[in-house]
Amino acid sequence: MGLVPADFPERLKRRGLKVSAFGDWYNAGGNADHKAIVLHHTASAASGSPASDAAYCHHGTSIAPLYNVLIGRDGSVWVLAREKSNSSGKISSRALQEAMAGKAGSVSAAARGLHDDTSANQNLFAIAYQNNGTGEKWSAAMLNAGNIVAAEALKALGLPHAGWVTQHRVLTARKIDCCGDACPQNFQPGINAAMAGKPPPTPPPPVPKPKEYAMGTVIPVQEAGKPVSAFRFLNYQNEIRTVSSQDVLILVNMGAELAGGSVNKGYSMAQVNQIAKSIGAKVV
Ligand SMILES: [Zn+2]
Repeated sequence: MGLVPADFPERLKRRGLKVSAFGDWYNAGGNADHKAIVLHHTASAASGSPASDAAYCHHGTSIAPLYNVLIGRDGSVWVLAREKSNSSGKISSRALQEAMAGKAGSVSAAARGLHDDTSANQNLFAIAYQNNGTGEKWSAAMLNAGNIVAAEALKALGLPHAGWVTQHRVLTARKIDCCGDACPQNFQPGINAAMAGKPPPTPPPPVPKPKEYAMGTVIPVQEAGKPVSAFRFLNYQNEIRTVSSQDVLILVNMGAELAGGSVNKGYSMAQVNQIAKSIGAKVV
């Protein structure tokens, strides 16, 4: 049976963590056979202390224990239960099978269009981060503690790497945890580093949203004998579309009405609008 051993809290302490274990943690929860790890956030108030949230998750609700381990926002670790915890509920069997095969990803079930058709709380060792889930910052201490707890749980369960660590939102489209701009989204690199006893790798800098470039021809709309009244944009797929404020137009074959017929010149929308305005025309 996949269960963490009696010295699990001691193993976490030896990794430098501040650990509290409830007196009955070893027998708490229904029968379990843990074959993967799932990460949650508590969605509890940002003002709640780690101790009060741990008490609630251990015995404060009729479906307790909610998780196997709670990570406080201060990096404190609360070992709640060794056996089954009740936190994941209905989930996708496909995402579950992936996690139990060491192939868990970090893309949400909602984004993949997966639907719930099973439940497997008894197979999922659940770790919850104390976070309100609505933008509260994820502290470095909490993330570091979570990486180490997941790494030690993987080792104890005989699971070789963080491909066996999934997230609630990866298992079911009903849930959003773990998430938010202040959350890593993909926890696996940090957990693998913790398994190897290394600090977490530096995450890559965010990629700025690229500007959309539209290349093609601006067509003056002009009735015979009258001034230009408007422009349309024709791209290389011969689609005429309205340009948006995200576009930087590259005008490859402008009419003489625009900047004297020059070619291969990049114009911002503001510039195009200025030129259009100067000749009493508009871009549509
Ligand atoms: Zn959850």
